[in-house]
Amino acid sequence: MQIPAYVVGGYVRDFIMDRPSEDIDIVAVGDGVELANNVASRLDKEVKVYVYKNFGTAMFVHKGVRKWRIEFVGARKESYRKNSRKPEVEAGTMEDDQKRRDFTINAMAISLQPDNYGMLIDPFGGVKDIDDRIIRTPLDPDITYSDDPLRMMRAIRFATQLEFGIHKQSLDAISRNRERILIISFERITEELNKIILSKRPSVGFKLLDETGLLDIILPELFSLKGAEFINGKGHKDNFFHTLQVLDNVAEESESLWLRWAALLHDIAKPVTKKYDPKSGWTFYGHDYIGSKMVLKIFKKLKLPLNEKMKFVQKLVLLHLRPQVLSDEGVTDSAVRRLLFDAGDDVDDLMLLCEADITSKNPRKVKKYLSNFKIVREKLQEIEGKDKLRNWQPPISGKDIMNAFNIGPSREVGIIKIAIREAILDGRIGNNYHEAFEQMIKEGKKIGLKKSN
Ligand code: ATP
Ligand code: MG
Repeated sequence: MQIPAYVVGGYVRDFIMDRPSEDIDIVAVGDGVELANNVASRLDKEVKVYVYKNFGTAMFVHKGVRKWRIEFVGARKESYRKNSRKPEVEAGTMEDDQKRRDFTINAMAISLQPDNYGMLIDPFGGVKDIDDRIIRTPLDPDITYSDDPLRMMRAIRFATQLEFGIHKQSLDAISRNRERILIISFERITEELNKIILSKRPSVGFKLLDETGLLDIILPELFSLKGAEFINGKGHKDNFFHTLQVLDNVAEESESLWLRWAALLHDIAKPVTKKYDPKSGWTFYGHDYIGSKMVLKIFKKLKLPLNEKMKFVQKLVLLHLRPQVLSDEGVTDSAVRRLLFDAGDDVDDLMLLCEADITSKNPRKVKKYLSNFKIVREKLQEIEGKDKLRNWQPPISGKDIMNAFNIGPSREVGIIKIAIREAILDGRIGNNYHEAFEQMIKEGKKIGLKKSN
């Protein structure tokens, strides 16, 4: 028996918009798993079909000229209860299946039946909305968003990715339903957040999150950056819009999700460190250090990975002022050596973040900063070529020190190690075994140790 089938959702949207896509979703009016097995056996006998029992869904990967991920699901009708985004599901018609979809541009289908093969079925005007570049729900937006509040994140994510607007009624409905986002797990929210961050202009999404009131709920720390305070007529810049500008700047230069996260969080501690001093005006002392300490809590809450990716973000937040301080206070060899030592392999990303951080409207200032950074970059290269400090390993080990003075593991070993490192970073001695050995003897003497024979 033939099972009626349709290509549906994202693939149809992307096909019409001429965007590349590897995922094909197929709806079967009938048993999706059976259809998947039939199709797979004709395309490639060896292929493994993965069946997700609970949802009547199956998937396989087909490597033809291109690689396709093809997912099959039986047409269904959904009805929602108040406290869950998991609907009651029953078998339905193709029409039911299109109605349960989130946006008009995601609710189009292409027939795979022999009698009308390739026909577009567009019950809600998806093509027109693509032309008008608008995100709109097929049914009443208040019901759509309340039923499954993840759709609020998806609306904003698609608007950002596709550079579309969100229909006014949808936007209002998101604002009204914003509190319902709390029934969604942070894994799902963050998945959408990451897609926003990875878009060409992530600021679009964050402005929409702010406008709809979602930002305050999911990332209050970022929301707190908003606004400028004035005392005695002196104000500071709005750090929310500054941050978004920095994020967009970074996005122009790098695809890295984690560098983009570092941009988003680089000034996160400004609100908690803000002070007004009648002499120096607004200050944010320590916002680099405090900010880096805030990253863990934010990553934990957002269910972001607590691994070396997070450490990278912490490090960049911690160091984000250093290149600028360096260019303000004179680009000495020893300061550059220290920067290289602290940043290690991430020094290029750090420089990129710092350049993106220049958002001043004053062209003279911008020129000055950029030319200072150019000097910093040149010095970094020169010193890295000479001293190889990027992934520094001490030329003298703890063991060398213990052997030299015939001592066991002790405080003294640490003191000497640090003293050697400081001498190298200051440029008083070269980064090599011979000079480090001499220095070790001197440092030992200072604390009353004698070289053993
Ligand atoms: P992308 O794969 O680029 O994220 P997509 O539109 O394919 O975009 P998927 O999450 O893969 O998004 O979902 C496939 C289709 O399933 C969507 O096009 C939409 O029709 C439907 N869909 C997905 N999530 C929802 C949801 N939360 N509510 C309603 N329909 C949804
Ligand atoms: Mg998809």
